Amino acid sequence: MKKITYIFSIFVLTVVLCAFNENKYWGFYGHKKINRMAVFTLPPEMMYFFKTNIEFLTDHGPDPDKRKYIDPHEAVKHYIDIDNWGMYPFPDLPRKWTGVMTKYVEIYVANHGDKALLFGPSVNEIRNDTLYGNNVNCIYSKYKDFIKQKVALNILKTDLDFELDSFALWLDMDLEIFEGQKIHIEEHFSQEGIVPYHLYQYYFALVHAFEERNPKKILRRANDIGHYVADASVPLHTTKNYNGQLTGQIGIHAFWENRIPELLGDSEFDYFVGKAEYVENVRDFFWSIVLKSHSLKDKVLEAEKKVSSYIPDNEKYEFIERNGIITRVQSEKYTRAFNKEMNGMVEMRLRDAIKALGDTWYTAWIDAGQPELKNISNIQWSKNEQEEMKKLNNAENNGNLMGRDHWD
Ligand SMILES: [Zn+2]
Ligand SMILES: [Zn+2]
Repeated sequence: MKKITYIFSIFVLTVVLCAFNENKYWGFYGHKKINRMAVFTLPPEMMYFFKTNIEFLTDHGPDPDKRKYIDPHEAVKHYIDIDNWGMYPFPDLPRKWTGVMTKYVEIYVANHGDKALLFGPSVNEIRNDTLYGNNVNCIYSKYKDFIKQKVALNILKTDLDFELDSFALWLDMDLEIFEGQKIHIEEHFSQEGIVPYHLYQYYFALVHAFEERNPKKILRRANDIGHYVADASVPLHTTKNYNGQLTGQIGIHAFWENRIPELLGDSEFDYFVGKAEYVENVRDFFWSIVLKSHSLKDKVLEAEKKVSSYIPDNEKYEFIERNGIITRVQSEKYTRAFNKEMNGMVEMRLRDAIKALGDTWYTAWIDAGQPELKNISNIQWSKNEQEEMKKLNNAENNGNLMGRDHWD
């Protein structure tokens, strides 16, 4: 009888747990903490604006995760399965978006549903200055130019179609042209995640917001880039084994990024990271965050495996109450052991993310010409804007997540 009750309550609790979203990301806790603490790295000229709006930056830190419920193109911005693209440090993976698209885009000639590959990663070969595809070839620099001008910035949101003759003209190719044919372009790279590319692109959106001295844009973009910097700092956001699903360690994602910071973040971690510094090469900077994260992921997996082997199964989980809801989480013993085995890595990555975010905000402000911010610090949100924010807040309760979830 006792056992049945136990099993039944596990079942009920699991159902409750599934309905409960509040602690799913770098935990709401991590994103809020990183955005908040980065404010204290800033110089006085920026501090007033950011401090005035520190509650916004704290509350909205998790917003980009909520956008996954309304924007099908959001999820890929939060991670990169970089181990799909070679071995650390991934010398063959282009660091520029146009480079990566030049390498991975697929170009077809299409005719009412039928399509034949002309260029793509499975057939492309570069010899001298010529790119050879599937029974076609063109000057490689012209191909790169075409990708840069016509494809790279548009392809993320949708497949692209071009008229055959305008395509042939761009690439200076002789193509036999038949009635009804089109050039159809696809990419399958971004589904493996694009966080470093997105960070670099989004950085300029923040610079422009500073240049415009538009307080709402500054605040929103500063907030969102904080989220992406934080995600890039998580080792398991840089691997195809993102939730331990390939090594029998399902649940490790939230264990690392939610449970440890929630249990130890306030009582035992130190978030003082010093002053923000100017970053000379922003692209390399974002890449270095991702590469550092990836270099840590084996340690994360090994540590959990080791700890899991000596803590008895019946001591691994416990039930805690969070916001009035009973939730099953890793036990304090298991969590502390995992954290210890990683030698303070979670605290280090939280601190690294805070410093990196301070550096990012500061560098964007410098690159925008150090605009005066004090006079634009008081922001009033219109009724419509407040409605929009409310909608976003409720999105995860009303919709399905589009794209990848990190813990299933
Ligand atoms: Zn995550
Ligand atoms: Zn995220």
